[in-house]
Amino acid sequence: MGDALEYRPHRYEPAAPERRIVELFGEDEAVIAGEVLSTRLQRARRLKLVKARVADETGEITAVWFNQAWLADRLQPGTRVRLRGNLRGRDFAVRSYDLNGVSSTADFAPVYPATEDVTVKKLREVTAGALEYARDVVDPLPAELKASAGLPGRADALVALHRPREEADGERARRRLAFDELLTLQVGLARRRQGREDERATPLSDPGELAARYRDVLPFELTPDQEQAIAEIDADLGRDRPMERLLQGDVGSGKTVVALYALLRAVESDRQGALMAPTETLAEQHFLTIEPLCLELGVPCALLTRSVKHDVAQARIVVGTHALIQEGVELGDLGVAVVDEQHRFGVEQRAAIRGGRQPHVLHMTATPIPRTLALTVYGDLSVTEIAKPPANRKPIMTRWITEDRASDAYRRLTRLLKEGRQAYVVCPLIEESETSRARAAEGEAERLRANELRGFRVGCLHGKLRTEERRDLMARFKARELDVLVATTVIEVGVDVPNSTVMIVQEADRFGLAQLHQLRGRVGRGAEQSYCLLVSRRREELTENAVARLEALVSTTDGFELAEVDLELRGEGQLLGTRQSGLTDFRFAKLRADRDLLEQARHIADELVDYDGPLNDEVERLFAEHDLAA
Ligand code: ADP
Ligand code: MG
Repeated sequence: MGDALEYRPHRYEPAAPERRIVELFGEDEAVIAGEVLSTRLQRARRLKLVKARVADETGEITAVWFNQAWLADRLQPGTRVRLRGNLRGRDFAVRSYDLNGVSSTADFAPVYPATEDVTVKKLREVTAGALEYARDVVDPLPAELKASAGLPGRADALVALHRPREEADGERARRRLAFDELLTLQVGLARRRQGREDERATPLSDPGELAARYRDVLPFELTPDQEQAIAEIDADLGRDRPMERLLQGDVGSGKTVVALYALLRAVESDRQGALMAPTETLAEQHFLTIEPLCLELGVPCALLTRSVKHDVAQARIVVGTHALIQEGVELGDLGVAVVDEQHRFGVEQRAAIRGGRQPHVLHMTATPIPRTLALTVYGDLSVTEIAKPPANRKPIMTRWITEDRASDAYRRLTRLLKEGRQAYVVCPLIEESETSRARAAEGEAERLRANELRGFRVGCLHGKLRTEERRDLMARFKARELDVLVATTVIEVGVDVPNSTVMIVQEADRFGLAQLHQLRGRVGRGAEQSYCLLVSRRREELTENAVARLEALVSTTDGFELAEVDLELRGEGQLLGTRQSGLTDFRFAKLRADRDLLEQARHIADELVDYDGPLNDEVERLFAEHDLAA
């Protein structure tokens, strides 16, 4: 019930005028009411149309529904309908409808972010049902605070959110609910700040010979942003308080190079460094990047995954998954921990460290939130941003191609393969489980080997491969023994093969904007021109939202800009996809529009550090869910 109540309308629809059928003209939206005379199902290419002949006392018209074939059964002759839509040619294109006497369609009404499976109509029914329970909702805010800040009760806000009398009501309600979210977060962060006050770390010695050799070994000059990041990290590492820094930068901006620098600084001070990644693939991938550099520098490094367990005791740098490292590997000598993709270095990891001295921690993330905002949202971290990618990059050229012309995409791909480039083909998301996704990818690789990619060396990367197989595959791809990797989204993060300059994403309309941006970040990592070809179903079959996502990707490669679009399209709730979810997973707060609320919450939170009441449950839930406990 709570979930339904907290499902936020992304807008409210104004009431539409009622018209009699004879009065319909032009393309303005209108509502008609009448009775179904007959119904038929029609196919137009891959589109399914339901057409119903509808009559009122003034005339008849054909009403058309797109891709809702199941409706045909419910539109029996004699059914009373109330339809909202507009004239399209001689037909009436239906946008929303009520059957058998219900009438909410034409009225001022909430519009929920619908998916292909759950319609706005269904969502309206569900939330309407849930509203009966709104009064049982616990209000987490202390009463004095509500009074002094002039905020409505939470139950009232939930009712107003779904049943506002006017637009402004809905917005006031949203802001009250947003305030709860922001305050919860800020109280948690304030507590964590307080808890950390007595933490101590061992200061590292100044950068020395190893740091200097690292710069020599790198095949390129560091960018000014990378230099700046390094300077900030060096300053942190010299203190006796643990570094808690967030290193932000778009995919491919060169964060890993900076992270390795921080790890080497630990080695230089005779301590260990650890790089923790959220998945095994990512850990392996980081290892593949880091190992050759470490070899050259004479620094022993080890990979630690479920299946590969190098000798950690000898290693100065350990790369592994968060899970493994937190399972109690003996990293008693840990000087610097780099935590990739925003999994917090939480209680368990801290507890695993013996001796009481905390390591310096660098968090890396590709989530593009403007820096000033990140400071507030992440409250307890310092933030460094790599804003500009290395200068030798050419912007990735992105094209959107519909399925019927997919062969163009493969033609372009094979042409580039013949020129010596490599490529990725990303398989669609449709499959439910990792196992069936793996099977689908294998099948697709097989099909491509026999058809479009005949004569090329095609590998297949998915989440079901054993670690050695996956490592071997990645190593062969990196060594150019394979031309193409057909992959599931496991390649989303971390895969780094600069010679791979083309990516085809199949059924790209099924992916989220953020995910596509992450995927695309696998190409464009070298000096060569790179291409990303997004193949989708036909335009008529796509939701408005899918069209907007694909158009946004074609129009820009800027992660910040895309994050803004993503916010808009998702009704602001979340920034980016699942891996990056966490602190930014708000249902109600709009990070840009609610800056004032955020400030207010931050301010008030300091006074609530010791507060004990219903708000505490919220704080605990938020911080437990995301492994953020201090
Ligand atoms: P991120 O971790 O931010 O996604 P990486 O650190 O993996 O980015 O860098 C992406 C690619 O750019 C890698 O192939 C890396 O070797 C290269 N690279 C990093 N820094 C520079 C630089 N200063 N000049 C040229 N290439 C760079
Ligand atoms: Mg990287």
